[in-house]
Amino acid sequence: MVYEPLKSFTRRYLTYAQQWILPPTCISCGGNGNHSLNGVVLDLCSACYTQLPFNRCACTVCGLPLPESSPALYCGQCLHHPPPHHAGFCAFTYRYPVSDLIRPFKYGHQLACARLLGELLAQYLQHKHATPWPECIIPVPLHRKRYHIRGYNQTIELARFLHQRLNIPVRLDVLKRLKNTPEQAGLSRDERLKNLRQAFVINDVAIPDHVAILDDVITTGSTVHEVAAILNKAGAQRIEVWSVARAS
Ligand SMILES: [Zn+2]
Ligand SMILES: [Zn+2]
Repeated sequence: MVYEPLKSFTRRYLTYAQQWILPPTCISCGGNGNHSLNGVVLDLCSACYTQLPFNRCACTVCGLPLPESSPALYCGQCLHHPPPHHAGFCAFTYRYPVSDLIRPFKYGHQLACARLLGELLAQYLQHKHATPWPECIIPVPLHRKRYHIRGYNQTIELARFLHQRLNIPVRLDVLKRLKNTPEQAGLSRDERLKNLRQAFVINDVAIPDHVAILDDVITTGSTVHEVAAILNKAGAQRIEVWSVARAS
């Protein structure tokens, strides 16, 4: 387990307590959150649910959105330069209103979004994931300094929720972030790759054969690519990448 600052721990449990006491509210528009999806009431209204940009047609390896009704299984990049991971599942394209749910979740302590986004990702995976589940989920870690400034890692919060819903263990002991890399937003693909070189290290623990790397948003894929490469080198045989959203 990771050490969690007391402030963040208290905030998280107050948020969860509040969710039980207060009626569900749509996190997107503030109205009544009563949209039911496969028997689960979401913190989302029906009008906002219909606006969700589901990633229906996507590259099966990296999750990149493909044109609607495209018969292709892979994007051009994965076809010509296969990445070190083998399957990708990204529930949404990174567009409104999902982008407006992820930003406050990531930077604004809106931890209630973990339940909503986690539920939507869990249901997407249950619908799309036809092969056996991975043996564990490995959330992309934040650097220690950034974790303490933010007080939480939104990807670990998502992983906790997926563990509850899918009963897959979460491993926080596998991967460590060595470099406190600047935010990747706004950098070119080459700059991102340079930025991430040797940013992660594998701890001295046994690596399961089949793992899922979890990130909240995949933009160019550089981060999951880097993590998959070192997991691959450490002996993982089948590596999946999971995320709530994928930039197109
Ligand atoms: Zn709404
Ligand atoms: Zn691809």
